Amino acid sequence: MNHFSELKLPETLTKALQAMKFEKPTPIQEKAIPVALTHRDLIGCAQTGTGKTAAFSIPMISRLLKNPHKTGLILVPTRELGSQILEVLTKLTLFNPELRSILLIGGMSMKAQIKAAQAKPRIIVATPGRLVDHLKRGNVTLSSVEVLVLDEADRMLDMGFAPQLNEILRFLPKARQTLFFSATLPSNIEKLSARYLRDPVRVTVGAVSEPVKKIQQSVIQTLVAKKNDTLLDELNLRKGSILVFARTQSRTDRVARYLTEYGLKVTRIHGGRSQGQRNAAVAGFKDGKFRIMVATDIAARGIDIPHIAHVINYDLPQVPEDYIHRIGRTARAGAEGEAVSFITPEDRQQWREISKLLERSGAKVAVQ
Ligand code: ADP
Ligand code: MG
Repeated sequence: MNHFSELKLPETLTKALQAMKFEKPTPIQEKAIPVALTHRDLIGCAQTGTGKTAAFSIPMISRLLKNPHKTGLILVPTRELGSQILEVLTKLTLFNPELRSILLIGGMSMKAQIKAAQAKPRIIVATPGRLVDHLKRGNVTLSSVEVLVLDEADRMLDMGFAPQLNEILRFLPKARQTLFFSATLPSNIEKLSARYLRDPVRVTVGAVSEPVKKIQQSVIQTLVAKKNDTLLDELNLRKGSILVFARTQSRTDRVARYLTEYGLKVTRIHGGRSQGQRNAAVAGFKDGKFRIMVATDIAARGIDIPHIAHVINYDLPQVPEDYIHRIGRTARAGAEGEAVSFITPEDRQQWREISKLLERSGAKVAVQ
């Protein structure tokens, strides 16, 4: 397929894609959209930054335009990813203002969300915790949901979100289409997903759990006591926007403070900050006010900031798959990117697990 027009999408949607300058579908879009348009359940796996958002949004919008009384639900692990998806939906429905999307995420006013939910939105984008709150209070009904999407599905099904997802499942119609998307699908997900999907079609681009080839990966062997110096050196060597991952909220604060004291333009994001602070951090990093953002794994999944040139793992991620997501914040949509990870002697086991995951994909990691 060379052009979106071959998909026979509603004309308004095709026009919106033109306005977004999306000409050709990406490989995952090319494979997943036709399947999703047949109303089959689907598990879609493709590398970070390859257009999975549109791969589920296009068929969802297309279906909802044909069924004016039906609605869609998109569940995401973080508020920032929710906001980003809402922006994409808004662009895709530029010529269908009647197909309104709303965002139900934590950290924002309940009252405004209740009002938005009452105005008959057609697509709800939500984080599970806040959606459950609304469901319990009777603010939202899901009885007209025809399409359910779990973005970052493996994260959504893991321990942290399972209780809320089960709660949400009780409110959803059984007759619905369910779409799962992620760049990583560990094998234990298969079993968990059976509760949600019916005879799903699997659509995979590249090997499962493979980092983007364009990312130049390297590791630097250092010591815990030397990490800050190593970080300063790396930041000075590199040009462009840099995302630095630390393990905990307090370590994120500490690293950001250290860099600020050196006069660098740094912002930080983690779950302990207010939503206003989180929004300001992402906005400032996006528009270049801050060249560096220090983050916990809250920023590991889904965030699409095209100009991120480098990802630095100041601390390694706890879960091997998160390595692929973290470094996938760079090299988006075919761009170039670099990722460097600091490894101390204490990290050996963790790095071995990540290496095992990478070995399967044949990715090369330079050791410094
Ligand atoms: P993923 O969810 O796979 O990580 P995203 O959906 O966030 O990727 O998309 C990554 C980037 O690619 C976004 O900036 C998006 O605008 C761009 N993009 C997606 N699909 C297309 C397309 N068909 N043509 C051009 N750019 C696209
Ligand atoms: Mg995504």
